[in-house]
Amino acid sequence: MDLNFRREDRNFQNEVRRFVKESLPADIRDRIHRGTPYRKADAVAWQRILNAKGWGAPHWPKKFGGTGWTATQRYLFDEETAGECPPQSPFGLSMVAPVIYTFGNDAQRARYLPRILNADDWWCQGYSEPGSGSDLASLKTRAVVDGDSYVVNGHKIWTTQAHEADMIFCLVRTNTEVKAQLGISFLLIDMKTPGITVRPIITLDEGHTINEVFLDNVRVPRENLVGEEGEGWTYAKFLLGFERTGIAQVAHSKHRLAKLKQIAKAELCHGRPLIQDNDFRAKIAEVEIELTALEYTNLRILADSERGKTPGPEASMLKIRGSEIGQKLTELAVEALGNYATPYDPVREGQNEPPIGPAYGEGLMRSFLYGRAYTIYGGSNEIQRNIIAKMVLGL
Ligand SMILES: Cc1cc2nc3c(=O)[nH]c(=O)nc-3n(C[C@H](O)[C@H](O)[C@H](O)COP(=O)(O)OP(=O)(O)OC[C@H]3O[C@@H](n4cnc5c(N)ncnc54)[C@H](O)[C@@H]3O)c2cc1C
Repeated sequence: MDLNFRREDRNFQNEVRRFVKESLPADIRDRIHRGTPYRKADAVAWQRILNAKGWGAPHWPKKFGGTGWTATQRYLFDEETAGECPPQSPFGLSMVAPVIYTFGNDAQRARYLPRILNADDWWCQGYSEPGSGSDLASLKTRAVVDGDSYVVNGHKIWTTQAHEADMIFCLVRTNTEVKAQLGISFLLIDMKTPGITVRPIITLDEGHTINEVFLDNVRVPRENLVGEEGEGWTYAKFLLGFERTGIAQVAHSKHRLAKLKQIAKAELCHGRPLIQDNDFRAKIAEVEIELTALEYTNLRILADSERGKTPGPEASMLKIRGSEIGQKLTELAVEALGNYATPYDPVREGQNEPPIGPAYGEGLMRSFLYGRAYTIYGGSNEIQRNIIAKMVLGL
């Protein structure tokens, strides 16, 4: 990848910037800038605007409705949209869609891909179970064939956005007689199917994004099996590579870094702007250096994917560094805010009282609290280190 962007790339970047400026509804832009909690309605509206422009799926191949953009264009699109626009939901676009277009059949592609592109279906990911998180292959949710259906029984947990989802992609056990990994299949399940119960889990930030999902004699048409029965583990690993690349969140962290500098310029320490304090400057410099290094690693992986290489174990590096940097940035933001970070006000939607403290502080404590999860979801960082030791270093 040529890191000195060509004129066409700069033109493309300007085009994206212009499009965002002209097309993103002002109320959504305002909520994003104020750091208000994620809203599905905003994400759906933005996805539909992008889809109408033909930009709904920046990373899908063109033949399935993607943009066919180069890695550089995708990178520039992320740069321009992170922190400005609602994030595109990863579960449909980045996770299940590549599985469907790579391993699914034509009927599944025709049915699901356009609905993902237009946010007609909102997806969630049914991998983790109580007792089967890191040791995912031990999952127990059982699917048994009965006529034209699978009958599914089990319990998924930590399922992000299950309460808002139309569909769930689920790992289920279809064979108990073989090695654990070989008995797993990949099923697409309509969340409205009788027998599905969703129960909320409230996180440290007092937000509701994750859930438990109970499946009680849920009948799923056999045509909703992706690929071959018993091959679910292969598809699951393929999908996790995509999940971990997204988790690097470089553009988002760059945005957070800019905001951190803005706060450090505005807040005073011993009568001088915090940014002039040597210790705090050193902390900002350290995280900025780490972020720049991560950015180049991410660009190398993107360039590989442009040459047709699927993200492999090296995606674990992105996940570890990206999540640690994300956490560090939220910690520094809270540190910079000082006393104003203490009064915690999780839900300001609909309030007409002014925020406690400066407006740039809104949402920062929430990000800090929720951010404790960055090093857990998508496979914990300890597990990523195990993967690197085994698959990259050959230990
Ligand atoms: C906010 C949030 C959102 C999530 N969203 C989803 C979702 O949408 N869908 C979904 O399927 N899952 C989701 N998850 C689940 C997530 O993938 C799991 O939490 C994660 O894989 C860890 O599994 P666990 O919680 O069962 O912890 P455990 O596997 O019980 O691990 C507990 C601790 O032990 C460590 N550990 C375990 N095994 C090893 C080992 N072999 N070597 C070294 N250390 C080890 C872990 O690193 C961790 O620190 C989400 C989790 C969170 C927190």
